[in-house]
Amino acid sequence: MANTDTPLMRQYLEIKSRYKDALLFFRMGDFYELFFDDALVAAKALDIALTSRNKNDPNPVPMCGVPHHSGANYINRLVNAGFKVAICEQMEDPALAKGIVKRDVIRVVSPGTRLDPESLDAKAPNYTHAALPNSADGSVDWATVDFTTGKFWFGRAKTRGDWLAHAMAQAPAETLFPDTAAGEDLLLSWRDAMPRVFAQTAPAFYFDETYAAERIREQFLVSHLAAVHPALSGREGAPGALIKYFQETQKAPRIPSALRLELWALDTAMELDAATVRALELFPARAGHGLGSSRDVSLLSWLDRTKTAMGGRMLRDWILRPLTKRPQIEERLNQVEELLLGHALLQPALNEIYDLERLLSRVSLGAGAMAGARELLALAGSIAKASELAQLTSVASLRERLLSALDPRLTELARVSLESLAEKPPATTREGGMFRKGHSPQLDELIELSENGEQWLASFEARERKATGINSLKVRFNRVFGYYLEITKANLAAAPAHYIRKQTMVGGERYITEELKGFEEKILTAEKKRCDLEHALFREFCAKFAELSGPITEVARAVAQVDVICALAAVASEEGYVRPKLDDSTELEIIEGRHPTVAVAMKRQKASFVPNTIKLGVRSRFLLITGPNMGGKSTVMRQTALITLLAQLGSFVPAQSARIGVVDQIFTRIGASDNIADGASTFMVEMSEMSFILRHATERSLILIDEVGRGTSTYDGMSLAWALAAEICERIGARTLFATHYHELTQLAGQYKGVANARVAVAHDGNSIRFLYRLEAGVAERSYGILVARLAGLSDSVLNTAEAMLAQLESQSRKPKTPADKNQLALRLDRPRGGEPLAPPAVQVAAAEVAKPSPIESWLTALELDNLTPMQAMAQLAQWKQKISTSNTQH
Ligand code: ATP
Repeated sequence: MANTDTPLMRQYLEIKSRYKDALLFFRMGDFYELFFDDALVAAKALDIALTSRNKNDPNPVPMCGVPHHSGANYINRLVNAGFKVAICEQMEDPALAKGIVKRDVIRVVSPGTRLDPESLDAKAPNYTHAALPNSADGSVDWATVDFTTGKFWFGRAKTRGDWLAHAMAQAPAETLFPDTAAGEDLLLSWRDAMPRVFAQTAPAFYFDETYAAERIREQFLVSHLAAVHPALSGREGAPGALIKYFQETQKAPRIPSALRLELWALDTAMELDAATVRALELFPARAGHGLGSSRDVSLLSWLDRTKTAMGGRMLRDWILRPLTKRPQIEERLNQVEELLLGHALLQPALNEIYDLERLLSRVSLGAGAMAGARELLALAGSIAKASELAQLTSVASLRERLLSALDPRLTELARVSLESLAEKPPATTREGGMFRKGHSPQLDELIELSENGEQWLASFEARERKATGINSLKVRFNRVFGYYLEITKANLAAAPAHYIRKQTMVGGERYITEELKGFEEKILTAEKKRCDLEHALFREFCAKFAELSGPITEVARAVAQVDVICALAAVASEEGYVRPKLDDSTELEIIEGRHPTVAVAMKRQKASFVPNTIKLGVRSRFLLITGPNMGGKSTVMRQTALITLLAQLGSFVPAQSARIGVVDQIFTRIGASDNIADGASTFMVEMSEMSFILRHATERSLILIDEVGRGTSTYDGMSLAWALAAEICERIGARTLFATHYHELTQLAGQYKGVANARVAVAHDGNSIRFLYRLEAGVAERSYGILVARLAGLSDSVLNTAEAMLAQLESQSRKPKTPADKNQLALRLDRPRGGEPLAPPAVQVAAAEVAKPSPIESWLTALELDNLTPMQAMAQLAQWKQKISTSNTQH
């Protein structure tokens, strides 16, 4: 056992016992030291040397350390690697300390609680999410906060699945669950879904109703919860826990810019689920969550022509939550229209506005949050620029919002700050030089003294050179000796007797004199007084800004809105987008629409994009799309959803014209994403997504389904696809685009009102196929799978075998059926409740072969294409070819 019975180790262990879940950065002089297991873990993660304290001890304490001045960088790396770091500082000047220096933790840093701009993506939020399961009804109360900007919401999800879909789409950086059995269980399901997000439990009392309510009242300085939000009562657990978590980790009483706690409203905006966010490629790939687009162009990166970080974050919010109320959408569209020409005028002013929200958070928390005079200057300068922006803004609604946010107290504080702060203040708050002369008479006096000091030193040096005749004599300063005179070896003989020798160097000697010492005392006290006074003034300014956090947040949001509207206006005018028409119908008519990002990518490659028209209405609510792979089905479906989403977030759209009956929700089931690590197969993921859609979609929704039912046997898959389509047509009635290779499904059109068939056009000539990418009415003649495989480069021998097999299968499926076959094979497509039963569709004809499958049919049926690599597929085909040719020669 290592000897830990020293005062320092006792102090260390006491502090560490309060931060068991974090790596403790223990400040010792110019270093942060880590001990015991923390040292083992950090040395490995940071790839730094592991040493030990007290090496002569038979059981030395493992130790590693990093220099204090570069601590932020190491902390960042550890947090990125999934650790939490507690920063323990010296709380008194070691020179003045009696006994062991007082130390304590000043901040805990984790992915959600970091404020350091170097570690944050300026244009993305940094959410911390808390979830509290209710065992009574299976619902989940949740709250999400961005500590860096003060955005704060709460809500209740009816089921665990709904909560998961919501929380995943928010992509928080950190999550918190109560340390109860139910909380741990919820944490596990979160980890399954989002293994890369930092997740942890917190003491259950954080979530306790009474305790949490108290924290909320503290945060918002009210005596009744209802004053914060009328719907809070009974749901205070999760938001209260987040406030407590902030208080604990930041050692601050309040989350600086969290001025409102808002209810997550489901009636004014869509709530896109994670699958849809991913499938529509809304956001760029980003470490930390798996919802990014794999392509280099996501909708956000394409639209993001914002100039401020706040605008960038607001645009992201708008994309994730398109509006569902017409007046609000029209208001944004009006603003975009009004700025079509004028946006360029505003963008230079926007360019000069820094991140007011994050600056406010750091300034409110003071120096502990790495704020200094530079941050104050940026904050004050940005507020002044916001006033200029208001003058330039021609759109009345935007201008008024900005002007009403610009409280006169705030503009006055910004003016005074700009007058008082130095033009180029130092990076730290421990140095002088933050303020200009003329701000405080007391400070001026001290500045004078220290500046005169420099002059005095220069004349002292000149005087001594003359007196001694040593031209190389220098007056210098270091922290150990203070001021001293330095004389080189060659001149030592000329050193006067009253010089007091302090240190011998290789090249000379260092001396002091009584006069120099006397000066030093005066100047150093003046310097210290100046630094202390500047620090106090700095804190005063911070407090003044913190007091005005309400107006500052309002200004930030008003600026962000101007910025986003300018960006949308820029996209609209530069890309030739048109204003969509919105109405309350359940129709959708996009004439000559383009996919916003695919069209751009193709243009860059000098290829032309084929625009498409889509009309969904009473007679064709459900469009069943057939056509070959690579024919453009997914693109036209996604572009329909993206154009709808753009319109409802308030943007113009890439089309000749668009008329959209406002959609309440967009759902997608696109692409096969296996989640094998979690034990969920492609098929399972697909069915869970379908089940989510069927539970939530309404008549006003827009549903995209691309290839459902593929990961199982053909008949299983086809039956499921049919049943799912039938459910949407019959019970939900949502506008739907449904792409499939199951041609049998085209018969839905004859069975249900509102179903229409469409196909992507191809030009087909013998062995070659050319994609035309045009959507037209009708049913694709065939799937062209083998022709597309030829384009992919499969060898002739494989393709010929496949052709032969296809011909054989097709001829078998045309054989007449006996009545017995029909009875036996009828797919069970009867509707589950009410309505007329379905007339047996022609699917049954194709299904007839199930009765006596040939060996090759059985093999094909069982073949799970999704689980085969092209090489494995070829190997299997080759085996079959071999088998067939062997059996042919035997006959
Ligand atoms: P699969 O069934 O294999 O998923 P698909 O029919 O859904 O194929 P898409 O993925 O939509 O086909 O499109 C394939 C490619 O075709 C796109 O990546 C794009 O390069 C091109 N493409 C799609 N639509 C168009 C279009 N309208 N104009 C020009 N090229 C297009």
